[in-house]
Amino acid sequence: MPELPEVETVRQGLNQVTLDREITGGDVLLARTIAYPLSVGEFLDGLKGTAIAQWHRRGKYLLAELVGATPAGWLGIHLRMTGQLLWLQPDQPLQKHTRVRLFLAEERELRFVDQRTFGQMWWVPPGVAIEGVITGLGRLGLEPFSAEFSVEHLARKLQNRRRPVKSALLDQLVVAGLGNIYADEALFLSGVRPETLCTDLQPGQIESLRTAIVQVLETSIAAGGTTFSNFVNVQGINGNYSGVAWVYNRTGEPCRVCGTPIQRLRLAGRSAHFCPQCQRGV
Ligand SMILES: [Zn+2]
Repeated sequence: MPELPEVETVRQGLNQVTLDREITGGDVLLARTIAYPLSVGEFLDGLKGTAIAQWHRRGKYLLAELVGATPAGWLGIHLRMTGQLLWLQPDQPLQKHTRVRLFLAEERELRFVDQRTFGQMWWVPPGVAIEGVITGLGRLGLEPFSAEFSVEHLARKLQNRRRPVKSALLDQLVVAGLGNIYADEALFLSGVRPETLCTDLQPGQIESLRTAIVQVLETSIAAGGTTFSNFVNVQGINGNYSGVAWVYNRTGEPCRVCGTPIQRLRLAGRSAHFCPQCQRGV
């Protein structure tokens, strides 16, 4: 599943190639990909004649600022489990799971391919509050790269919670965009066991956890690369990081620091990977 670094890498790539081209039309092959407006025709009509001024990211949402003769609203995209955005020419053969095609000037196309079909798109009309349409935006915590994401903030979010710290880190209200891979990695870097209850965390552990979250996300974004001619696939980008992961998906393999086999446990239905030597209980 794409996590924050993958979505950020896609955002940077989109900003390199898609800006300032008129959207001339589109084709929706799977209607339920369009979360808003309810009418697919209204979605395409809203986009037609506009151009993308800039791509932003909030959590794992991609948000394209649209311009026309006047401000023209927003295009929102969430990749969910398997969504991919491809930048190509309209005459290139359709991929098996193509859901939405947006045609842009000079024979270009932004194509949304999504095997599992959980991906979503929204057109937010101008003058309408974006959180009112893309309601998930209102349920996001702070961005990990924002100045407000401080040790004090993280401590406040974690305190008094009798749940494992790994589960808390996956809560998008605690920090936006963190998923299974990078939560495991950040816990390894800070030497904290995933099953440690938030109430048992020491102030020093929360401090190193905050540092590790930012560090692991930055490292992964750097590994994702920034130049592409087309967005081959998010899984491929993910794979770049997987090759250097500390613990994620490395059950039984030697810890890169101490050589102890990495272990795996289940927490609230999700797998957690850790080194029993480098990560100590409280
Ligand atoms: Zn170790």
